[in-house]
Amino acid sequence: MNKRVKKRLRFIGIIILLILTVLIWNNIKQAYSNNAYGTTKEKFIVVIDPGHGGKDVGAIGASGLYEKDFNLSLSKKVNAILEKEESIGVYMTREDDIFISTLDNYRTKFANELDADLYISIHGNTYDSSDISGTESYYYHEKFKSFAEVMHKNVVSSTGFKDRGVKREELFAVRDPNMPSVLLEIGYLTNPQEEQLMFNDELQNLIAESISDGVKEYLEIE
Ligand SMILES: [Zn+2]
Repeated sequence: MNKRVKKRLRFIGIIILLILTVLIWNNIKQAYSNNAYGTTKEKFIVVIDPGHGGKDVGAIGASGLYEKDFNLSLSKKVNAILEKEESIGVYMTREDDIFISTLDNYRTKFANELDADLYISIHGNTYDSSDISGTESYYYHEKFKSFAEVMHKNVVSSTGFKDRGVKREELFAVRDPNMPSVLLEIGYLTNPQEEQLMFNDELQNLIAESISDGVKEYLEIE
């Protein structure tokens, strides 16, 4: 073998070695970024919390429909949309009509233990008078107010319901999560028109899209 061929072979050998090193290093890095839940840290984790469930029916609508069913139905739609996002891992605090005690803070603990990036609690509102209607959103920590504002703006644009604003309230769903959180009161189930619309599948799809849009806007995902 002449010197030039030897030199070239050595050069190719070094290049192959470098490529292998980079590939192996990337594999190791990825393996270590997997957390206990099997999701990679490169993903945003979003927790959807359908309010109430089981024996806790939540608000009872003008025609007798339950808030817990609205919350779960809408949450499942949001879950289905966000699941398609490659950069988002989405989890629900309940996927069935089950009762979750508030005593041990299961819902917010679930999000904190996942080290989630966003927590969205979905509810329907109630009032003594059937005249009251509209969408309101709640936050607790000032630093997370902007998240509630983004979510509220998107939801109101999809429902077309009266904009009742973003409000601060010490609710466990917005007080206890370590990450930006919002409690969405989509509309008043005690208002007959809103109850009917909130249980309308097409409007639920639009609201679910708007919640997904809000998440992507806040996380700056295209
Ligand atoms: Zn509720």
